[in-house]
Amino acid sequence: MLNTGVDAALLSVGPDLPWLIGYAAMPLERLTMLVVPAAGQPTLVLPNFEVPRVVPRGDLFAIDGWDETDDPVERVAGLVNPKGTLAIGDHTWSRFLVALQQRMPASDWVDAGTVTGALRQIKDEAEIDALQRAADGVDRIAAELQGGQIPLIGQTEAQVAAHLSRRIKEEGHARVNFALVASGPNAASPHHEAGQRVIQPNEVVLCDFGGTTAEPEGMPGYCSDLTRCVYTGEPPAEFAEAYEALYDAQKRAVGAATVGTPCEDIDRAARDRLAEADLDQWFIHRTGHGIGVEGHEDPYLVAGNASPLQAGNAFSIEPGFYVDGKWGARIEDIVVATPDGARPLNRVDHRLAIVEA
Ligand code: ZN
Ligand code: ZN
Ligand code: ZN
Repeated sequence: MLNTGVDAALLSVGPDLPWLIGYAAMPLERLTMLVVPAAGQPTLVLPNFEVPRVVPRGDLFAIDGWDETDDPVERVAGLVNPKGTLAIGDHTWSRFLVALQQRMPASDWVDAGTVTGALRQIKDEAEIDALQRAADGVDRIAAELQGGQIPLIGQTEAQVAAHLSRRIKEEGHARVNFALVASGPNAASPHHEAGQRVIQPNEVVLCDFGGTTAEPEGMPGYCSDLTRCVYTGEPPAEFAEAYEALYDAQKRAVGAATVGTPCEDIDRAARDRLAEADLDQWFIHRTGHGIGVEGHEDPYLVAGNASPLQAGNAFSIEPGFYVDGKWGARIEDIVVATPDGARPLNRVDHRLAIVEA
């Protein structure tokens, strides 16, 4: 904060607050806000009746509870320099930001992500362990999918998504963040929501699922995010060849993810391989996103992002191809950049499994 001229960070709902102190703010009209001054002790301002939910850490922050008739904006304003540069968490409700700006018209406002993004994207050992546990959980589910233990043919996408969601919870996650199931032509839409379509024999089923791990009270959860495709029968040669190129492209991008490599070069590695198979026109999204307490965070593996990968970066590598009205596929792993090269956290089979159940 001193380096970037920020006098205080104001963190409310969103991932910054649990990442710092293990407490997630209720997304409510009642304000919860951690005030972190550049120097001095942070203070957590929150409704008095929420105080029992906080694991107190007197060494880290003070607690300032407010009653129903108090004005929490006034409390926050009293803790900062009203003419200073204030960094606001990017998930904070605009009603609070507007009220704070009206109360302190001489203040300057910046996105707290400028402070926390750079810190959060470097994972320490405990964070990588949590990401590994999250990855192991969804890997086990993908193995069941590939082994035909999750019924597909004759089920609706929504039924399969419900099955995946139940398993995500059983695998040590507190929350399911998404369970995308896209069958046949629906696989051509990268973020297709599982719907009422009934899965048929002889088509692709793309499953992209993840959640946030359950951790002890006072510790933030970490995210999983995995994509695998299966085919309900023998795939046609055209699809099998395209999948082979995708398999290679994903592998190449993982191999390119070494410390010091510009993020955009990893995207380029996947894209170039798909171009060799004339599939690059169908690869319509970036190659990956950072992951941690938030499902999508820095760094982003996308053309235009020349920032070099740093040791401790954790991110997805997820090239895909999406042919309108026909089919699609994606392979996604979470990978950590280490001084010894890319370390994939997901290790479940990357080949196209044939599932006839
Ligand atoms: Zn996505
Ligand atoms: Zn995903
Ligand atoms: Zn992803």
